[in-house]
Amino acid sequence: MKTFFTSCPAIIHDPPHVLADIIHQGHPIPPKHFRLEIDHDGIAWITFDSPKSSVNVWNEETLREFNHLLETIEHDTRVRALVLRSAKDRIFVAGADIKAIRNMQNVRVNELIWLGQAVFDRLARLKVPKVAAIHGACMGGGFEVTLACDWRIASDSDSTKIGLPETQLGILPAWGGSTRLPRLIGVRKALDLITSGKLLNASEAKRKGLVSHVVPPERLDTLARRLVRGRKPVFRYRFENLLSPVIGFMAERKVREKTRGLYPSVTKAVEVVTDAVHGDIENGLLLERNAVAELIKSHDSARLIDLFFKREEASKRPAASGTALPIHDATVIGAGVMGAGIAHTLASRGVRVLMTDVSNDSLARGLERIHGLVSDATRRRLVTKVQARDTLDRISTTHVPVPMNRQHLVIEAATESMDLKKKIFADLAARVSEDTILATNTSALSVAELAKTVPHPERVIGLHFFNPVHRMPLVEIITLPETSADVLATAVSFVQKLGKTPVVVKDSPGFLVNRILVPYLMEAVRLHESGIPVKDIDEAMLEFGMPMGPMRLLDEIGLDVAAHVAKTLADAFPDRFPHTDALDKLVSAGHLGKKTGQGFYRYEKGHEVADTSHADLPRHESIQTNLALLISQEAMRCLKEGIARNADDIDLAMVLGTGYPPFRGGPITFARDTGIIDY
Ligand code: NAD
Repeated sequence: MKTFFTSCPAIIHDPPHVLADIIHQGHPIPPKHFRLEIDHDGIAWITFDSPKSSVNVWNEETLREFNHLLETIEHDTRVRALVLRSAKDRIFVAGADIKAIRNMQNVRVNELIWLGQAVFDRLARLKVPKVAAIHGACMGGGFEVTLACDWRIASDSDSTKIGLPETQLGILPAWGGSTRLPRLIGVRKALDLITSGKLLNASEAKRKGLVSHVVPPERLDTLARRLVRGRKPVFRYRFENLLSPVIGFMAERKVREKTRGLYPSVTKAVEVVTDAVHGDIENGLLLERNAVAELIKSHDSARLIDLFFKREEASKRPAASGTALPIHDATVIGAGVMGAGIAHTLASRGVRVLMTDVSNDSLARGLERIHGLVSDATRRRLVTKVQARDTLDRISTTHVPVPMNRQHLVIEAATESMDLKKKIFADLAARVSEDTILATNTSALSVAELAKTVPHPERVIGLHFFNPVHRMPLVEIITLPETSADVLATAVSFVQKLGKTPVVVKDSPGFLVNRILVPYLMEAVRLHESGIPVKDIDEAMLEFGMPMGPMRLLDEIGLDVAAHVAKTLADAFPDRFPHTDALDKLVSAGHLGKKTGQGFYRYEKGHEVADTSHADLPRHESIQTNLALLISQEAMRCLKEGIARNADDIDLAMVLGTGYPPFRGGPITFARDTGIIDY
């Protein structure tokens, strides 16, 4: 009998025993995860459809079944072509089964990598023309299997997202992705996609050369049938790949500048992709295997994978009790930075929005902001022109009071003033229906205080979006003891439908993220007052992995806003949040940060005016230890006070809300890992 080894001997020179067993074992029972139909034209349709699940993933079982189907096809003389597709609504293949990998010993992970490479290589070597018809999420291993096909075609559905996000998990594409993608689209574009871990929609994937055609989902099969009847696409050698050492050198320099060497998977990916594009495929696959075997052992990868699960859970987990009602209509009060941002996000997710403000001028400015966001997304092909138009069509505006009894949800995002917000809430209570949810986007005011102004405090909640709303993935949901279970369940599900990650927190000064951030920012100001240059403080925290130093962050937030939040916290916790004069002095002098051209830094035309760093490394280390400790301490206090549900939520909120370095797992995980806090 023809075995796996004789059909594609090159890749497996010295396979692990378990792989040989898997390959030779055959598959006596019919596949559970796939259907194979061979039609009268000799087209073999392999449909991936894992039972009792809305997703398809690659694990040992699915790879074995797929391998067996390929073997069947190799031996079936009727087969003239192969089409790979998925039966799921929103998923083609979501990638490798990370849950299974997380619990595996390293040696088993390496075997699984080997198995995936071998099976996809078998697909690549199949003589008949092969098409991957992609509808839904096609990520990681899901995309790597398609790279072994001759054509990739994609549906234009919103759910179609294509990419190789492995570096976000501290590893790299090792089922042929790092080797085959640069051959398909060139080293430069492949590096961009792999090092960023970006997921592309179908039209962007076509523009970048990942897929050849984009059609409505219902036309995928017809197109696949037409393509396999024609000639195989001709392989075009990318001459830029000859220059891969130069491109790799530049990319590595860029990556090092950006990541400061803190993300070894990204640096390694540059090395593998630029090397793997030369020589034969087997050589590339070997480089991938060796690299991933090294990366998977790292602490960083374990932390990134843990965080991935925390986020997945928080983005899908419903509230513990209560019934979530669907929200189709919402009102946003205030058309400023946040109001316009929230209205845009809601409308882009299919919610009809009424945006209100005090005057036509304010509304016009808000609409202008929204137009800017929509045209930027269209220019970057994140949305189609039709989607952009639909988003704008869902937004209406008014500056005069209108009946609101049909609104499911009102989100107040007016100027930060308790008196003003109380008036708005009292007025709303008289105009909305009894079951309308009243939410506030306040940064720091007491939600309980606001709830006192309405007759039904059980329907009041905080929905704290972060700025800029369309980019920031976190929403803090602030609850009161009175908040009804249905209101909370609805808020959680609504935030999840917006594609954001909700973290439920108790109403307490600064809520969760600002409460943890403020002592860190104030200590940074105190260090500066004690004579340390702003640049040194910022450099130290960039080296820790923060996306922006604390002094720079204060300038971005606005020193007036920061001083206001700091005061709220200093009033609430006078023993722990001492007041510093430095902020007040700058605010009184009119130096409010970037918006006024002067804060801790000086700005000209929105750009920081260069300053020199002292690059004093020992000092950087002590700044880091001091500031990182403060973040972790306050995070622990929040945990002990029950501000958030658990440590995972606190870690997640800090990573998503402030960019706390994800490879450190979050401030509580960091404290546990390093032992900087005794508890
Ligand atoms: P902003 O100053 O940009 O906008 C406030 C808007 O509210 C203005 O357009 C103003 O005309 C309008 N307004 C005032 N009174 C009103 C009323 N009675 N009815 C309707 N509209 C009214 O402020 P912003 O930055 O968008 O902040 C809004 C809220 O969001 C504040 O509570 C703030 O604390 C909170 N927040 C801000 C940020 C941020 O980074 N800017 C982040 C999270 C939360």
